[in-house]
Amino acid sequence: MIARKDWDTYFMDMAYMASTRSQCGRRHVGAVLVQGKKLLGTAYNGAPMGVPDCSEAGCMLVEEFEVVSEVGAERVIKKQRCIRTIHAEQNLLLFTDREDREGSVVYVTDEPCWTCANMLANSGIVEIVFHRSYPKDSEKVSALMEQRHIKFRSLIGYEPPPGTITEVHN
Ligand SMILES: [Zn+2]
Ligand SMILES: [Zn+2]
Repeated sequence: MIARKDWDTYFMDMAYMASTRSQCGRRHVGAVLVQGKKLLGTAYNGAPMGVPDCSEAGCMLVEEFEVVSEVGAERVIKKQRCIRTIHAEQNLLLFTDREDREGSVVYVTDEPCWTCANMLANSGIVEIVFHRSYPKDSEKVSALMEQRHIKFRSLIGYEPPPGTITEVHN
């Protein structure tokens, strides 16, 4: 007999299912909005409607420099990032209503970046559950959620459904 899935697993599985719709070769992110136990919306990262996406036009890459602190030293590393897509969390907010969002929970495959976190903090939601971590913005984002009294937690020990994970190129 297969054990019944708990709600966290159930909704995170749905976020991973949504992420498989993404056409960006660098990052597939999915997010779902849940009110009580009801699914109010699903979203993934993608180009605006009617605009060629990453699979058609290629990723739109920008280079960024990131300072990494290591024991006793700081190191600058160069990173590439695709800016063609609207992030999953932002699409989720674009396609749901403010009133519906009041008191709801967001399940997202990846820890939100600073911009998404800032928008989520002002969106009416009361909890964010994520799976993969995004260390670059993690500290600022956690501090923000604490100030806004938004529950912010990662699903530890969670295993995404087979076939939903795509390679991330950094
Ligand atoms: Zn892309
Ligand atoms: Zn983001």
